[in-house]
Amino acid sequence: MNRDQSRDLYDRALDVLAGGVNSSVRATQPYPFFVQRGDGAHVIDADGTKYIDYVMGYGPLLLGHTLPDRVVAAIQSHVSDGPMYGAPTEVEVELAEFIVRHVPSVEMLRFVNSGTEATVSAMRLARGVTGRDKIVIMQGSYHGAQPSTLVEGGPESAAPSSPGIPESFAEHTIPIPFNDEETAERVFTEHGDEIAAVLTEPILGNHGIVHPVEGYHQTLRDLTEAHDALLIFDEVITGFRVGGFQGAQGVFDVDPDLTTFGKVIGGGFPVGAIGGKTEYIEQFTPAGEIFQSGTFSGHPVTMAAGLETLRYAAEEDVYDHVNALGRRLREGLSDIVADRAPEYTVAGRDSMFKVIFTRRGESQTDACSGGCRQDESCDRFESCPKNGADVDAAATDRWERLFWQEMLEEGVFLTANQFESQFVSAAHTEADVEETLETYKNVL
Ligand code: PMP
Repeated sequence: MNRDQSRDLYDRALDVLAGGVNSSVRATQPYPFFVQRGDGAHVIDADGTKYIDYVMGYGPLLLGHTLPDRVVAAIQSHVSDGPMYGAPTEVEVELAEFIVRHVPSVEMLRFVNSGTEATVSAMRLARGVTGRDKIVIMQGSYHGAQPSTLVEGGPESAAPSSPGIPESFAEHTIPIPFNDEETAERVFTEHGDEIAAVLTEPILGNHGIVHPVEGYHQTLRDLTEAHDALLIFDEVITGFRVGGFQGAQGVFDVDPDLTTFGKVIGGGFPVGAIGGKTEYIEQFTPAGEIFQSGTFSGHPVTMAAGLETLRYAAEEDVYDHVNALGRRLREGLSDIVADRAPEYTVAGRDSMFKVIFTRRGESQTDACSGGCRQDESCDRFESCPKNGADVDAAATDRWERLFWQEMLEEGVFLTANQFESQFVSAAHTEADVEETLETYKNVL
């Protein structure tokens, strides 16, 4: 495949951008393809090659690349009225009202500009509200490029996972394995009165897609309630993606105190939000004392894009479409994996999917062969990856260096590492899905 234009652009980029990119996951090997434009469910690279796209901007593009006319019109009218003002606008109120109407645990919101900003502010809020410093996070979870969660290790010995983060930040972070109720209970027994919050993705979406075991989030809810700590769901990926308008918290029937949003609610523009109970959200300045602010927060163009995207999704049954295609992909992949690579796992839910290049523990060949799926209909979850460490044990090199490359050669653009979720959009068709399954079959 000819990628001369991309190679030349990368060569220029290396002179002026760190690693030639503006987000580390984009630096694919041997060099990234540069995108010229999107088209429905496809992207077209700088050399004119077209790929079926399941990266979808790493999640924001619920409607795909070609936005419906009414979404484009809403965006354009806010662009031509002047992009932003430093004063409030009606569209911010409308998007907040839409979210509050649909997510029962969210009574109020503060908009910000990225998922990272949302988790930073949610943690400050939890610490300010409780007067405590420690935050419990899940190993393998991702909450953005922020110092308090770029922490690795376990409950006994946490350390920054990047240079530039003071050791003292990690002292306030307690990473525990996802789905391990015993460790969660132990950590609360030992540190209950120092813990401000538990922060977790309801479904790990940045580490292979891992589902909670039955009752796990309820255990976190009970523990936080018993110890006067807050439960924060990071729904930056799952919000308005999994469980339709109610989010993953609706699926698992657990109400967190705070929820962070991003991605889909900005309709493809930079966004984040912290939502939750009034008694907490009102503690942000200027209603309360806990500082929160931002030049671009509630940006009218972003708000219009998000609002019109969600309205369109409601009126056009977008979730029915993307979830049906997601299910078809997982079912088809399960059959292919059972046949070609029974040691692998098909994971996902609704419009999220991934093939993880491992099973779990010793049951590699029995319980899972036959195509166990780690999704809403899987009854053999026991033998699927359950936490970050299980996914770390996957054949990540094979995924990145062979499988991903080969899929790209065959015209299918997947997330370039083993860990990140892939997404179906409203623009994908049954034909795209069948073509994709055929490609998976050949490449696997
Ligand atoms: N939280 C989660 C669960 C995420 O998946 C991400 C980004 N992938 C973030 C936070 C950070 O969001 P952003 O990249 O918009 O800062």
